[in-house]
Amino acid sequence: MMKRFDIAAELLGLEPGLYNYLKTPVKQIIISIPIILDDGRIEIFEGYRVIHNDILGPSKGGIRYAPDVTLDEVKALAAWMTWKCAVMNIPFGGAKGAVRCDVTKLTSIQIEKITRRYTSNLLEVFGPERDIPAPDMNTNEQIMAWIMDTYSMHVRRTETAVVTGKPLIIGGSLGRREATGRGCMIVTLGAMEKLGIKAKDARVAVQGFGNVGSVTAQLLAEQGCRIVGISDISGAYFNPNGIDIGKALEHAAKHKTLHGFRGGDVITQDELLELDCDVLVPAAKEEQITASNAPKIRAKIISEGANGPTDANADPILQEKGILVVPDILANAGGVTVSYFEWAQDRAGYFWTLDRVNRRLERMMRASFDAVYHSASKYNTTLRIGAYVLAIDKVAKTLKTRGIYG
Ligand code: NAD
Repeated sequence: MMKRFDIAAELLGLEPGLYNYLKTPVKQIIISIPIILDDGRIEIFEGYRVIHNDILGPSKGGIRYAPDVTLDEVKALAAWMTWKCAVMNIPFGGAKGAVRCDVTKLTSIQIEKITRRYTSNLLEVFGPERDIPAPDMNTNEQIMAWIMDTYSMHVRRTETAVVTGKPLIIGGSLGRREATGRGCMIVTLGAMEKLGIKAKDARVAVQGFGNVGSVTAQLLAEQGCRIVGISDISGAYFNPNGIDIGKALEHAAKHKTLHGFRGGDVITQDELLELDCDVLVPAAKEEQITASNAPKIRAKIISEGANGPTDANADPILQEKGILVVPDILANAGGVTVSYFEWAQDRAGYFWTLDRVNRRLERMMRASFDAVYHSASKYNTTLRIGAYVLAIDKVAKTLKTRGIYG
């Protein structure tokens, strides 16, 4: 994150004071979460919440539960959220939270206790006008419901807008589940248009078949693209005539993974990334495209469904090869955009139709794609650095206009 931030800051000619300000989180909180286990023992978990910046509005960012999460990781992820919201023109700052725990070793009741204690420890931090969490790795709708309920109990009123990614029945938004994949599909089509690639002629490979990957694959197929490769943790599959995504979805729903899927030939995970195709969508995890495999990538477009799938050392190689990379802070921002819609609906107490959610998402994704493209052209740089420049400039200008209090 910092490597790209530095390149963009230099291009912008960001003054040292502003550079330091934007590099540093405004708040970093470490909390202790004691839980009484079934056998009466007390176990202490460590929790974090980092607010990177709240100049554009209340801070926004997910909470992850992971055994190896660190404060440094949360700080980097919080900064990422600041830039993502700024790129999307959403009036939110950036934050991220975490609890150091292994959910596979915890019961549902223990996860609920951890979640409620984490929330009550952060009561002064959270709030619809202050800081709004959302799901991330190993957290889900149910955990968001517990956060909302705990916060509401303390403030003595039902406060749905304190968290997004909630179940529909307690103020969630239609279209939230598919939002990241839908946003990724929209900007991928935008990139194809720039290169003169028609959807019906496009061959697409998608790494990861979870929420983001499967929805992106399905929606691109609906647009007429041929999905020639898909993969998940269990393996990768190739079919030059196009994979039937409906069948792949059925298989994954039934067997939990793509293992045993017969709709394509089995290939290696590396081969999937290096397929002869027009578009590659890495939608699994971070650091999949590195300096060692970047020279072998044959796609003309990479659309980053995942967060951080490309190592910073691979950036110049991809640029040299003329591959158009739609960066993560734009390509997967559909999720935070519909989270913003969810917050707006909760605050208004008026809920939108799915059609309205999708239309507004499309409008915002297209507008941000155009703005990033324009910024990249203006500074004669990649879409990634163009996106960072756009975001940093917006936050810096807002800060200058508001002034520094003190
Ligand atoms: P998910 O858990 O639903 O799916 C992840 C998929 O990746 C699974 O199919 C898994 O089997 C596969 N996978 C894991 N390791 C793999 C490997 N080494 N090779 C191939 N496939 C592998 O997660 P998701 O919600 O789809 O998130 C995927 C990425 O998108 C993450 O980087 C996440 O941070 C990012 N993201 C998600 C959202 C969202 O709204 N869900 C929003 C923004 C960014």
